[in-house]
Amino acid sequence: MAALIELQHKNTTNISTSKYHNQESWQVSTWAHRAWFAGGCATVLISLAKTLFLIINNSRPWVDSMFAAFIGYVMADLATGIYHWAIDNYGSAKTSIFGSQIEAFQGHHQQPWAITTRQLANNLYIPAVAVTTAVTPINLLLNDPVLLGFVGVFAGCVMFSQLFHAWAHTPKRKLPAAVVALQDARIIVGRVQHAAHHRPPYNSNYCIVSGVWNRFLDKSKFFVALEVLFAAAIGARPRSWNDPNSDWAPYSGIH
Ligand SMILES: [Zn+2]
Ligand SMILES: [Zn+2]
Repeated sequence: MAALIELQHKNTTNISTSKYHNQESWQVSTWAHRAWFAGGCATVLISLAKTLFLIINNSRPWVDSMFAAFIGYVMADLATGIYHWAIDNYGSAKTSIFGSQIEAFQGHHQQPWAITTRQLANNLYIPAVAVTTAVTPINLLLNDPVLLGFVGVFAGCVMFSQLFHAWAHTPKRKLPAAVVALQDARIIVGRVQHAAHHRPPYNSNYCIVSGVWNRFLDKSKFFVALEVLFAAAIGARPRSWNDPNSDWAPYSGIH
């Protein structure tokens, strides 16, 4: 899942500042990262190729699959928001399976710019692992071009959400014109919108594909309602309730 975002390897409460100012070993892609990223890309391409094959071979209408693909793009943004909110607010570095990501997200709040110096496969391999393992059986078993169109675009957007996230932290002058155009058209999450996530009270703008859900989720206080519900039901207090959220404050300004 998408917003399965950063994996870093150190304790975020004791981060060495120098580690985040230069490209260090933890930001460099390994061959394992590249293999998972290639696997994720192949998996998404197989979903989309099978969608096309089934449409053409079975004379199915294009419009249904196109609409499903669009819904996949929209829902991927929501999925990244829910995942990002959960990882930001609950658990710790010791939590099973998700502990390293919880730790990495906290590190990202303290050093937001560090994401811009991570190499591509290093940044995307965790969502690529999830996409490859979850979608491969679907590709094998599913023969409906509408559902496959949804799955392919949803998975692709989830996997690349971390790249869109990195671009949202990159100064405009360093971005290709096409990326700036996509951000300005709100096709991918914009720099200004995501910057609000890194400002007090650190509890908004969690979605990182297009950001289309952010306004609705924040205005409706959707996540606040979930937090109140979880606190009442199981006594779990979200990190965003901490005042003054010192754990989330950047060490210095974001780019
Ligand atoms: Zn966050
Ligand atoms: Zn960020």
